[in-house]
Amino acid sequence: MSDENDFTFELPNSSPVEPTRLELDDKLKFRCHLGVSCWNRCCSRADVTLAPYDIIRMKKSLDMDSTEFLKAHTVPFELDMHGVPGLKLRTDDDGACLFMKEEGCSVYEDRPTACRYYPSGLLSMKSISESTDERHFLLIKEEHCKGHDEDHIQTIGEYRKEQGVEEYDDLNHEWYQIILKKKSTGPSIGKPSDMSLQMFFMASYDVDRFRRFVMSDAFIKMYDLTDEEYAELENDDVALMKFGFKLMKQVFFGELTIKEREGAWEERVKERKDILEFRKQAEIAAHQKKQDEARKAALDDGD
Ligand code: SF4
Ligand code: SF4
Repeated sequence: MSDENDFTFELPNSSPVEPTRLELDDKLKFRCHLGVSCWNRCCSRADVTLAPYDIIRMKKSLDMDSTEFLKAHTVPFELDMHGVPGLKLRTDDDGACLFMKEEGCSVYEDRPTACRYYPSGLLSMKSISESTDERHFLLIKEEHCKGHDEDHIQTIGEYRKEQGVEEYDDLNHEWYQIILKKKSTGPSIGKPSDMSLQMFFMASYDVDRFRRFVMSDAFIKMYDLTDEEYAELENDDVALMKFGFKLMKQVFFGELTIKEREGAWEERVKERKDILEFRKQAEIAAHQKKQDEARKAALDDGD
C-alpha cells in the first residue's frame, strides 16, 4: 500500500481524459480568449469544487451573506469516506454554471481557484511520514478545448501568476493541509463526530455564521483572545477564515492551537452537568405529573 495521500483540486469540468503531471517550470501551450471557437464550452459543463477563500471572494463580489450564497450557488458532496463536507458550484439542469453569460464569466474577477487553473489543476501530495505536502500540477487536454491550439507558450508558474491563482493557493494552503492530514490519519482517528463535521462546514464555508459563533458569549467565555483579536475577527473575513483553520486543527486533531481561558473547560463541564441535572429533574417532575393526572382520572371514573 502506498503511504501517500493526495488531494486534487478538481478541474472545472468532469472529464474522462487522463491528466499529465507538471511542475512549476514546465511549459504550457495554451491561451483562452473571447475569439476562440469553443468559447464557454468548459463553463457549460462545469464541475467546480470550492475552497474557503473562493467563497469569501464570490459572496463579497455578489454582496451576499455566506449563508445566502451557499443556499443559492452551491451543492454539497463528500470530500472523503468519513463524510467530510465539500461544496461545488451549482449548475443548471444541463450542467452549465449559473455565472456563465454569453460574454463570459459574470464573476470573472472573483472566479474560483479551479476556474483560474483550467486546463491545469493543483495536486497536493503528502506522504504519511512527512509533515508537509508536496505541490505539483496537472494538465488536462480535452478535445473540445481549442485553447491548446493557440500559439502562446508560458510556464505553469507564469500561468498561475497571470490567472491570479497564487493568492488563492497561499490562502487556502492550510485548509488543503488539514484535508490531507485528515486523509492520512483518517483510519487512526476514526470517523469525526457530527459536531466536528458541522464545525468544519461552518468554519470552511459559512464564514458569516462562523463569525456569529465566534462572537457569542459562550465562545468568548471559553477562549482567551485579546480585544484586538476579537475586533479583527469581527471585521475581517480572511482573518476569520485563518482562525477557522486553527479551530479545525483543535477539533479534528486535538492540537492546542487556540488558548483556552483558565478554568473555562471545567466551568463548561460543570455548567453542562447543571443543565443535565436540571433536565433530569424536569423530566422526573413531568413524569410524576402525568402519573398523578392518570391516578386522579381513574379515581374520578370510579366515582
Ligand atoms: S465561475 Fe465563471 S469561470 Fe467558473 S465555471 Fe462559472 S462561469 Fe465558468
Ligand atoms: S479555450 Fe478552453 S478554457 Fe477557453 S473557452 Fe474554450 S474550452 Fe474553455
